[in-house]
Amino acid sequence: MDLAIRGLRVLVTAGASGIGLATARAFAREGARVHVCDVDQTALNAVAASDPAIVQSVCDVADRAAVTRMFDQVTATFGGLDALVNNAGIAGPIAACEDIALADWERTLAVNLTGQFLCAQRAIPWLRKSSNPSIANLSSAAGRFGFPMRTPYAASKWAVIGLSKSLSIELGRDGVRVNAICPGSVAGPRIDAVFANKAAARGISAATVRDEALTKTSLRRLVSADDIANAIVFLASPLGANISGQVLPIDADTQALF
Ligand code: NAD
Repeated sequence: MDLAIRGLRVLVTAGASGIGLATARAFAREGARVHVCDVDQTALNAVAASDPAIVQSVCDVADRAAVTRMFDQVTATFGGLDALVNNAGIAGPIAACEDIALADWERTLAVNLTGQFLCAQRAIPWLRKSSNPSIANLSSAAGRFGFPMRTPYAASKWAVIGLSKSLSIELGRDGVRVNAICPGSVAGPRIDAVFANKAAARGISAATVRDEALTKTSLRRLVSADDIANAIVFLASPLGANISGQVLPIDADTQALF
């Protein structure tokens, strides 16, 4: 299948690792021009070494001035922008609501929600000039289900869906598609550590915790970062030209969070 995105100008936030890096690489493989930003300079240096075709810069998406500087750099280099992948998101505190510090609540909302708003604000004037414009906003399975002990994260991810659906209507007349992507738990060291911590807290094995988690998915498995990346690339391609305002779970049919 030819995705026909050679030369597409793409910005992926938090693209130095995880889903963001997988997405940046998936775009680059198809011949797109890709800029990643991230707060982690060391991780960006590693990307510069491993993927020299991917342009990168340091930016905290919650910092309005930094976002402005980053967009100036991206649009000066690329001469415009066709696709924004609002991927940056942090886990936030894992605690009961009454024990969460206001600063932790605010930081989670600042990165996960305000960061997407700030990047969309800067991207929109450029996307309006594009012949194939799109925004993918990373929500989560936690944007579709309640998630106890993770209230700031879940609140931010539900809010991402409201942002995405509203923007889709607002920008539709200019042909800009906006979709929310809802990954399930991605296989890898991060989820392995979560299983290990829960197992230690309950005095059971990590394998048991993992098996319990998988019973919450119809397909009985975790997903991969590449699963998410491939869907994002498809939506940004001309093949996704008539898909907007959607909330796309990529989660092995998750029925509940654990
Ligand atoms: P990750 O934890 O692997 O982090 C990715 C990158 O984000 C890191 O390189 C980090 O330096 C960067 N980052 C952190 N704060 C930033 C900021 N303020 N500005 C710019 N960059 C910043 O992330 P991931 O697991 O790949 O998740 C990517 C997105 O997908 C997030 O929005 C996350 O909430 C969502 N998501 C992930 C999963 C999962 O299981 N991994 C599941 C559902 C949703």
